[in-house]
Amino acid sequence: MRFRRSVPCSAIRSTFAAAALALAASCAPLGASEHAPHSRTQLVMLGTGNPAPDPDRFGPATVVLVDDVPYLVDCGVGVVRRWAAAIREHRLHARVTDLKTAFVTHLHSDHTLGLAELVLTPWTIAGDARFAKRGAGDGALEIHGPKGLARMTAHLLAAYDEDIRIRTGPGGENAGGDPPRVQVHEIDAGVVFRDERVTVTAFRVRHGTWREAFGFRFDTPDATIVITGDTAYTPEVAAQCRRCDILVHEGGVAGDPSAYFRAFHSSAEDVARTANAARPRLLVLYHQRGSNAAGLAAIRARYPGPVVVARDLQRFDVGALADR
Ligand SMILES: [Zn+2]
Ligand SMILES: [Zn+2]
Repeated sequence: MRFRRSVPCSAIRSTFAAAALALAASCAPLGASEHAPHSRTQLVMLGTGNPAPDPDRFGPATVVLVDDVPYLVDCGVGVVRRWAAAIREHRLHARVTDLKTAFVTHLHSDHTLGLAELVLTPWTIAGDARFAKRGAGDGALEIHGPKGLARMTAHLLAAYDEDIRIRTGPGGENAGGDPPRVQVHEIDAGVVFRDERVTVTAFRVRHGTWREAFGFRFDTPDATIVITGDTAYTPEVAAQCRRCDILVHEGGVAGDPSAYFRAFHSSAEDVARTANAARPRLLVLYHQRGSNAAGLAAIRARYPGPVVVARDLQRFDVGALADR
């Protein structure tokens, strides 16, 4: 992955001191070349929203890149197009057609509306040289997630069986080809994936009446990243982070006393409590309601560490954080 500076970082660096670390992490050093080197582990927030149709916040989707190899967490609405936008903004080397490994935190629609897109679109464009220069078509997409993910995936493929039949039939762009190949792994807590670059550990979170909801910890050669998915307060998040490099935490919203919110999500006070116990190098909020200025202020009043509300397509040079 190469980096292209598209926003003058100096213009946004001058705000909160607590945000400076995050901005430094997501902006090239001033004066750096467009092809400045970076650490092995990168994090790109493809989508930072929730079910609300905020045009600036697509559905939850986060990609961890280690040596340019992508690992996706969640597939909210627009995930494939957000990936294309990230390529344009950051000159990612990894294309969605390179994706081999994905993880799903839970089956709420805002985290899975892009699942059909993730399965079908790379398969559809695999023969198009404009989009599929590397890795296209070889091997199944492997998706790790909670019980029920296999059934959801099978139903989606069944829903699109006519599309698949037409595209692979006579005259179709994939004529004579195979249908999309997807391998679903339904998970429990513990190490769910390991290769030469990353170990991924799933841990259970509290998300209202969902019996199966997970967060994920990524341990790479130069960084540890914890992504909560959707969760109410649980000490498990801090236990998994333990001074990790980046804690990507949902919510942190101020002033929602509803029983639903308390059972399913984290208030600003909850996030501050977790962060004070976890002490990440950088706390990144996502799954947001707008800019969440009130929630951010409430967290900063209770937690002295660096914290930032992520925006869509924001990139973090995670390995570089560890050197600070
Ligand atoms: Zn959600
Ligand atoms: Zn949810």
